[in-house]
Formats: sequence, structure tokens, C-alpha cells
Amino acid sequence: MKRRVYVIYTGGTIGMVRTPEGYAPAPGYLQGRMAEMPEMRAAEMPAYTLREYTPLLDSSNMTPDDWLRIAEDIARHYQEYDGFVVLHGTDTMAYTASALAFMLQGLRKPVILTGSQIPLSEMRSDAQANLIPAMLIAAHHAIPEVCLYFGNRLLRGCRATKVDAEGFNAFASPNFPPLATVGIHIELNRALLLPPPNGSGALHVQALAPAQVGALRLFPSIPAEIVDNVLKPPLKGLVLETYGMGNGPTANVPLMTALQAATDRGVVIVNCTQCLTGTVNQGGYATGSALARRGVISGFDMTAEAALTKMFYLFSQEYALETIKSLMQISLRGELTLPA
Ligand code: ASP
Repeated sequence: MKRRVYVIYTGGTIGMVRTPEGYAPAPGYLQGRMAEMPEMRAAEMPAYTLREYTPLLDSSNMTPDDWLRIAEDIARHYQEYDGFVVLHGTDTMAYTASALAFMLQGLRKPVILTGSQIPLSEMRSDAQANLIPAMLIAAHHAIPEVCLYFGNRLLRGCRATKVDAEGFNAFASPNFPPLATVGIHIELNRALLLPPPNGSGALHVQALAPAQVGALRLFPSIPAEIVDNVLKPPLKGLVLETYGMGNGPTANVPLMTALQAATDRGVVIVNCTQCLTGTVNQGGYATGSALARRGVISGFDMTAEAALTKMFYLFSQEYALETIKSLMQISLRGELTLPA
């Protein structure tokens, strides 16, 4: 039987066309172009349904409501299809991929986000090179994960981050190897895949509560008042983007006091490094262990996107504070590596 893939088109460059104001999404355009592509009629290509959203979004405008719309759409069509492809703008694709990884509980089928840097309507577009392998992998491979396909690599969604605003290799997975690389063959590294969920449980979508989490990047001379203001209610959780192995300006006593006061009030502060590669080790330097003593917890090697969406996810459930803190520090979807 022909495999079946459900393709959701949310917007982004992939389906844009030139207008006098610059590239803009054109409703119906992508559907028409895909129908004309001879590759879509190849024997190994799955049958597909394309669901185009209204309005088509530049992903800079995506919110958790849009993540929920995608997640619920996948859940509604879950039984009818072998896999799912989400066409999405690249700018916030890593956030959506991370959010969906947490929201789709009990996922057994591939959900692959992709897009392009140049629209399909342009001659040198990378759209076909991303779309076709994404559809083939979604159709033919048992991958119980949310993934991101771009530039010949299949990445774990909650490990991916956008690293290039212009190049075709726009995404990296700095702390976890690609799940697959695509050259002459599609080389899937099965040993890296998450195990399928236990039992025969159905897919469950966890909606995310409105944002009471944030992110703050440290910089030399950051004023304590800024940190204190960010940490004020209603904030419940903060991704603190620190230096190197997770170090901060511990000589800034008012800043350290603001961190302590916030963690005493029950704000969850997660330490993620500004470095692209490597992990937080709050015991490595005195400037890191002092953060730990103020109640800051380690985000290990999580991307800021994964840490932020994971907090959205955990705060959306009725967990006790201590449970949220301990779940932040273990891997739920393969988003972090604990030190050996
Ligand atoms: N601004 C666009 C977006 O993220 C860029 C892209 O699609 O690559 O929607």
C-alpha cells in the first residue's frame, strides 16, 4: 500500500513569491507547484495531503497558539497517515520543533519540520532539496520523534538551533549527532533514536499555558536592576544565558541577591551557556558554583530553545515546584545529555 504523509504548510519563505514589498506568502501557490512537480509522482513518493493554514505566517509571528494548532492537527490525522511534515519559516523553526517535541506525548510516528532559505518560486531554491527527503523520511522510516530536516541532515527537533541567516545549512544540532544524513543514500542512525513509547497509548497533546517564562542573556556590565526587573512576578521561569561552562558576574552583589531573592520566591532559573557547543558545569568555576548556591539549576547542554519550551511545557501542568526543577534536569525527549 502506498505510504501516506500529511503535510502542513504554516508559512515561511518556502511558499513565498516576489511582490513589490519583498517576498510574501501566496495562498494556494505551494499546492499548485507541488502538484506540478514530477518528483511527487515517483513510485517511492508517498501520497500526500497538503493542509495550508490561514493566514500563512512569517514564523517570527508564531505563538504557542500556533504550536497548539499544529499539534492538534497532527493528533486529528494521526491514525490516517504514516508521517507528518510541517513546512515552516526558518526563523523560529527550532522553537516550534522543541515545543512540539514536548507537546506531542506518546508520539510513535515521524513529525518533520522543514522549510527553505530561498522560495520554491526562485530558480536556485533549496526548497525541493529539503521538501522531498523530508517527505520520504516521514513516509518510510519509523522515527518516533519530532525532527528538523535541513541541508541534508535530519536533526532531533529539540536539539536544533538556527545558526545561519543565509546559508543552506541553516541549522545545527551542536550537542547531538544528526539522526540521519542524506547523500546518495538516506543513512539513518537508528541507535540514536528515542525508544518508542511504552504500551499502545494514544497520542496526547499537552497545550501550553500563556508565557510566564523568559530568557535573558548576560553581558559584561549587565545592571542588577535589569535582572531584578525581569525576575519580577508574574515570571515563573527564566533561561539565564551565561558564559562558558555556566558562569556569571558573581562580583555583582546586587545581581546575585536578585537571583537569590527570585529563587527563594520559587522562580525557576535555568543556566544555559551562550556557547554553541558544550555543557554547563556549575561546579567547574567559582563563578558557576556561586550561581548554584543562589538556587540556579543547570540546563546542561540544552539549547535555549529547548530550555524555554520545556519550561512552558512543565509550567502548563500541575507539577509541584520541586518536580519542575528535577524534570528540567533530566532528559524527557532527548533534549539534554547528563554528564557521565
Ligand atoms: N522570516 C522567514 C520565516 O521564518 C524566514 C524563512 O522562512 O526562512 O518565516
